[in-house]
Amino acid sequence: MNYPKLFAITSPSGGGKTSIIKVVLERHPEIKFSISATTRPMRSGEVNGREYFFLSQEEFQTLIEHDELVEYEQLYTDYYGTLQREVNRALQAGSCMIFDVDVKGARSIQQKYPNEAVLIFIMPPSLEILEQRLRSRKTENEEKIQRRLSRAKMELEIGKTFPHIIVNDDLSRAINETENIIQSYLS
Ligand code: 5GP
Repeated sequence: MNYPKLFAITSPSGGGKTSIIKVVLERHPEIKFSISATTRPMRSGEVNGREYFFLSQEEFQTLIEHDELVEYEQLYTDYYGTLQREVNRALQAGSCMIFDVDVKGARSIQQKYPNEAVLIFIMPPSLEILEQRLRSRKTENEEKIQRRLSRAKMELEIGKTFPHIIVNDDLSRAINETENIIQSYLS
């Protein structure tokens, strides 16, 4: 039996997964993107309903109470969660789907969908390079950068156990490697 695949792509913040996912989706319009719900503020350039559904804390709580999330995590001060309706959208259409989630979210998706989930970890070349990237994108203040770096250490430990690991020392190579892994599951 061929199940539509759910590709959970994860990396520490600044690890490059958002850029990789963007290109893979452009090259593969047949793959859907799971739009998560979050309570974090919208960044400039983001659009509600495209990168995320941006919700208030109350709206997010309602999703939890109504059991509308496949998984959710509190990261830093904000909540992020995968919507059950997004997963249903893919499975009903028989389409593959990409999830941009943290390591724990990827594990939860794997537990709920053991036949469909494929976990891919994007590994930054080093913590120093991760720090440089976080600083250069200028979207977080110093306190947030420090929090993301300390969390990155935990994420790197968990990510090491993922079945697919891609070292992002060169973005175009990392994109191609991710695409190759995904393609190997598309029949
Ligand atoms: P950012 O604020 O930079 O967009 O995302 C912060 C972190 O939250 C990233 O590691 C991203 O992958 C993760 N994330 C985004 N959506 C979800 C989700 O639905 N569930 C989980 N567990 N993590 C998510």
